[in-house]
Amino acid sequence: MGTQKAIVKENPEAGLVIKDVPIPDKVGPKEVLLKVKAASICGTDLHIYDWNDWSKVNIKPPRVIGHEFAAEVVEIGKDVTSLKVGDYVSAETHIACGTCYMCKTGNKHICQNMKIIGVHTDGAFTNYLVIPEENAWKNPTDLPIEIASIQEPLGNAVYTVLSGDIAAKDVLITGAGPIGLMAIAVARACGAGKIIVTEVSELRKNLAKEMGASFVLDPTKENVLEFVKDLTDGLGVDVGLEMSGKESALETLLSSMKKRGRVSLLGVFDSDPVIKLNNDVIFKGLDIHGITGRLMFQTWYQIKSLLENKRIDLSKLVTHKFPLSKFEEGIKLLKKGEAVKVVLYPE
Ligand SMILES: [Zn+2]
Ligand SMILES: [Zn+2]
Repeated sequence: MGTQKAIVKENPEAGLVIKDVPIPDKVGPKEVLLKVKAASICGTDLHIYDWNDWSKVNIKPPRVIGHEFAAEVVEIGKDVTSLKVGDYVSAETHIACGTCYMCKTGNKHICQNMKIIGVHTDGAFTNYLVIPEENAWKNPTDLPIEIASIQEPLGNAVYTVLSGDIAAKDVLITGAGPIGLMAIAVARACGAGKIIVTEVSELRKNLAKEMGASFVLDPTKENVLEFVKDLTDGLGVDVGLEMSGKESALETLLSSMKKRGRVSLLGVFDSDPVIKLNNDVIFKGLDIHGITGRLMFQTWYQIKSLLENKRIDLSKLVTHKFPLSKFEEGIKLLKKGEAVKVVLYPE
């Protein structure tokens, strides 16, 4: 058994270290051993770096982190039937138990005993990792490894955008972080009408335009509600996608909705926001729902179709590429809002 360099949450405190860890040598009957080609840094990894409240509850150090990746199958367990050595894969990061109420009623993405790769099990910021066969998603061989490595957050965007009608609907997307930007591309590809986006970062505002936004507003400088009203004959937008996790953005979004509109909430809030339930939700007859993870595996088939048929081009969202050892640089850029997706390559 050899060792490999990995990015590890070593102690229950802020920070991450790069160190040698054993290469996994046990592959269960329904598991596969993967060799990582590329892995991208997620907002969740930044939370783990900072050791926020969510990390404290969910991570038991030491833990190899990283969950968005492209890899090659190098060994399969004895009962694996759907994969072979040499297959090119990415992964659904939610590991479902398969036996709880949610799993048995077609809702594996919110399994009651859910584990997450790179959080509850060792992750992909290294050379080799083991995952369940079910979680491996076979990629088309011509999909670039950088794009393959960002399909997991793309799945969040696809699930959010396509969780209701989108064709010929006017959409407001609050927040153009990586998933917000992907959501713009997906909404455009699926025939959305006007796409209005709110964002403060210059880099992200420019990319929002490139992904297909009709209008990009800075909510700290412009009156979003007035703008939406002017644009929609005073009616508001049909679809609202909350991608920022900011209370002020949610408030703007709810007040900008057309009556009977659809609101999908993906952004996670630091503390529970206060909303005007009577006027902004009940009397408007809004349809609001939460989004977490990706439908297993309907969302993955939708991702495959969008990529295969070249309906979306996300290459501009991969703003930086570093060897694994330079991960701190990537984290710094992401925290300053100077990067969108940072892809790491194991050495
Ligand atoms: Zn992620
Ligand atoms: Zn379950």
